[in-house]
Amino acid sequence: MSGLSAEERDVVATVRTFVDREVRPVVRELEHAGTYPEALIGRMRELGVFGLAVPEPWGEAPVSMPCYALVTAELARGWMSLAGAMGGHTVVAKLLVAFGTREQQDRWLPRMATGEVRATMALTEPGGGSDLQAMTTVARRDGDGYVVDGAKTWITNSRRSQLIALLCKTDPAAAPRHRGVSVLLVEHGPGLTVSRDLPKLGYKGVESCELVFDGYRAPADAVLGGVEGRGFAQMMTGLETGRIQVAARAVGVAQAAFDDALAYAQVRESFGKPIWQHQSVGNLLADMATSLTAARQLVQYAAERYESGARCDMEAGMAKLFASEAAMRIALDAIRVHGGHGYSTEFDVERYFRDAPLMIVGEGTNEIQRDVIARQLVARGGLD
Ligand SMILES: Cc1cc2nc3c(=O)[nH]c(=O)nc-3n(C[C@H](O)[C@H](O)[C@H](O)COP(=O)(O)OP(=O)(O)OC[C@H]3O[C@@H](n4cnc5c(N)ncnc54)[C@H](O)[C@@H]3O)c2cc1C
Repeated sequence: MSGLSAEERDVVATVRTFVDREVRPVVRELEHAGTYPEALIGRMRELGVFGLAVPEPWGEAPVSMPCYALVTAELARGWMSLAGAMGGHTVVAKLLVAFGTREQQDRWLPRMATGEVRATMALTEPGGGSDLQAMTTVARRDGDGYVVDGAKTWITNSRRSQLIALLCKTDPAAAPRHRGVSVLLVEHGPGLTVSRDLPKLGYKGVESCELVFDGYRAPADAVLGGVEGRGFAQMMTGLETGRIQVAARAVGVAQAAFDDALAYAQVRESFGKPIWQHQSVGNLLADMATSLTAARQLVQYAAERYESGARCDMEAGMAKLFASEAAMRIALDAIRVHGGHGYSTEFDVERYFRDAPLMIVGEGTNEIQRDVIARQLVARGGLD
């Protein structure tokens, strides 16, 4: 936390206390019940978590990206779903701050800062999420607005979000394809159906849904920034935030898995001594701690690069790639350390093992991250 201001350190400490006192004692029961964590989300609103990316005059306490990453990791240490509930929201807030018209900012940002309005982003389609430019959701000009037809899938928080940043084509014939893409700021209404809540391995509590647009009407001023054809570039910038956020979530899950394993290895005994004293278990702990520390550094590096204003798609991709793969390994090793208890739903480690894979797939799969990294390495002539 050395690079943070005193106020930012307080923000992180407040969220840490919230997680230890109010989240960790209840998370197992809530998670297995699969119910939406209304009370915890309410507390996050009170703590100002949904306003962390909203500056004045619309919000009060925006924090730097390194602070935001630490807050995200803290929430995920308690329950990854809580960090997920503010991830897309923050990306949309940043999109509005960076690209929104003044009218769009005044309309949405004050209520987003308090969490009264929560936002999500809808990119992925049933036909595929990696090749976004192949999307088939179309918004056609019709009179003084747009008519939207198409479908999106896996859209997190979409039932409870009042604002959906919809990536769609306003000019399906455009060449190159990305010039025909826009972000529409969409609200629930006639022609938009949340058709299904998707069953999931983990990431319980918050909903991930299919959305169907069938003759949905959006006003002309729903286009982010007021100009068509800029949506792909806008969303790629937003995904820098999203990927740092997902990387930080992975760090939080890995931290929780490591903490539980370290504690358990000191109280569980076999052959007359604590199991950590068996070299195989000690080695697991040493490797877990080493990769967790490396993941933390990469996430902070990407966050600092973001904060500097420099392009950071490669750094965010590296952080997301490394931290998510590390979290998966650490979650599995935490199960090994717990032996049979690691497979029990009465312990938390099985949840970390179910939550960790999402960070490998979400916000652009790790295969896509490697592609981004390789392209940037060539474009930039290697590493700095
Ligand atoms: C729980 C959950 C929540 C989600 N929340 C959201 C959300 O809120 N909003 C949203 O828009 N999306 C969301 N997603 C969707 C997620 O971003 C996509 O699943 C992801 O981008 C991958 O898209 P896909 O599933 O269509 O896989 P595909 O694109 O079909 O990819 C399948 C496989 O092929 C590989 N692949 C594809 N193209 C290439 C390539 N060029 N090079 C190498 N490998 C390639 C992929 O890496 C993957 O291994 C969520 C997903 C999950 C599971």
